Amino acid sequence: MNKNEVRVRIAPSPTGPLHLGTARSALYNYLFAKQIDGTFVLRIEDTDLERSEEKYTKQIIEGLEWLGIEYDEGPTSDGKEKGDYGPYFQTKRTKVYEKYIQKLLDEDEAYYCFCSKDELDAERKAMEEKGKAPKYSGKCAHLSGEEKEAYKKEGRNSIIRYRVPDKTITFKDTIRGEVTFETKLLGDISIARDVKTPLYNLAVVIDDYTMEISHVIRGEDHLSNTPKQILLTEALGFPVPQFAHLPLILNEDKTKLSKRKTKVTVDDYKEEGYLPGAILNFILLLGWNPKTEEEIFTLEQMTKIFNIGGVHKGGAVFATDKLDWINAQYLRKLSADEFLELAMPYLEKAGLDVSNKEYVKKAILLEQERIKKLSDLPEMVKFFFQDISYDPKLLVWKKSDPEVIKANLKIALEFFESLDEKDWTESTIEKGLMKLIEEKGLKNGEILWPIRVALTGKEKSPSPFEVAGVLGKERVMERINDTNFN
Ligand code: GLU
Repeated sequence: MNKNEVRVRIAPSPTGPLHLGTARSALYNYLFAKQIDGTFVLRIEDTDLERSEEKYTKQIIEGLEWLGIEYDEGPTSDGKEKGDYGPYFQTKRTKVYEKYIQKLLDEDEAYYCFCSKDELDAERKAMEEKGKAPKYSGKCAHLSGEEKEAYKKEGRNSIIRYRVPDKTITFKDTIRGEVTFETKLLGDISIARDVKTPLYNLAVVIDDYTMEISHVIRGEDHLSNTPKQILLTEALGFPVPQFAHLPLILNEDKTKLSKRKTKVTVDDYKEEGYLPGAILNFILLLGWNPKTEEEIFTLEQMTKIFNIGGVHKGGAVFATDKLDWINAQYLRKLSADEFLELAMPYLEKAGLDVSNKEYVKKAILLEQERIKKLSDLPEMVKFFFQDISYDPKLLVWKKSDPEVIKANLKIALEFFESLDEKDWTESTIEKGLMKLIEEKGLKNGEILWPIRVALTGKEKSPSPFEVAGVLGKERVMERINDTNFN
């Protein structure tokens, strides 16, 4: 297939930061395009002037960049645009729209409606009271020239409506199969504020046509717009693109994803210390299953295995546990220096003294295998950087005798004292302590547990040998000395 035969797009509205659902649409569009050497377009649907903000356009672009989802055409982070089908902002496409809106008016496929909001509300209410599904009555569909003039003189505002023909719309959705819709349910739909300003459904249709979009892959929340868009596409004589509607993303309780229950923006997850690869990997699996044991994939691998036809119809539950698990896999794969670099801002933000980089690196590396997200790290490692406090009862291992614990801490202290600073490594500490345990016939738990607590103040931590190795002789001596058992 030649380049440009397949052209796909995402068309986010810049009314908020990059949403996870948009990121998933972006990924699926990207993978689909990549697989067949197609073109992936980013178009900014900023016609909602009240809610659109430039800062969100920037966040969307930067979010995609951070995730590593590259698009071939659209606005870029330097304020420019790439591609030959621009402008890629709807607000800059007025000229493109005008021609088509005028055509619909000239052909009497569309007409001006002068009904006020109050009149429309009253009409809707009356229909609802009669138990009918509300739709526009068609009151302005056949106004005479004089009537129109009279309304204009009254100073009434108008909008443009499309005369919806009575027919059955059928299309084959790549994911959902055949979808059928009766246009009778619609009433004449509003399509433009004026001849230069299309409303959402018409703008999408004109944009998709003029940008030669061949496949529309987007969230299921747009499924109800599709029949309207197909009507308008046909009215304008454009080819109908192939549609694929992606399943809804659900909160863990299976309700529709909402920010009250789940964090929904890519920035939220970035801030919490999820890695871009892990987020991509997670959203890949939100609605699609590789049907293999393996679940961790690079973007390149995704491109090889993803198939749009295999996307599920049913809602995709957002399982934070799964995201955590995936992120943990990605964190483990980082080199020590990469891990350090990514961790530093989190440690700094938590107010830890991270001036000694070598020390920081050794400390955090002990947690690399256990950590789920970077924002958990300061809490896990702060005992390396700050004085600790804990309930002395914690020093006593299970039901052992506190006197034994006290004696064992003393043995430990003597051991650490005897160990030369130049031999101070995790492995010498481990060997030395284990030898001592054997020689003196101690129970592992009765000495290793209190050492762990004395050094970390915690029940769970890396092994006491590792912790002691990193803390260094001075701190280890100090902390064991500080136990109330001395
Ligand atoms: N602007 C729409 C949105 O942000 C997308 C429209 C489309 O993909 O057709 O949800």
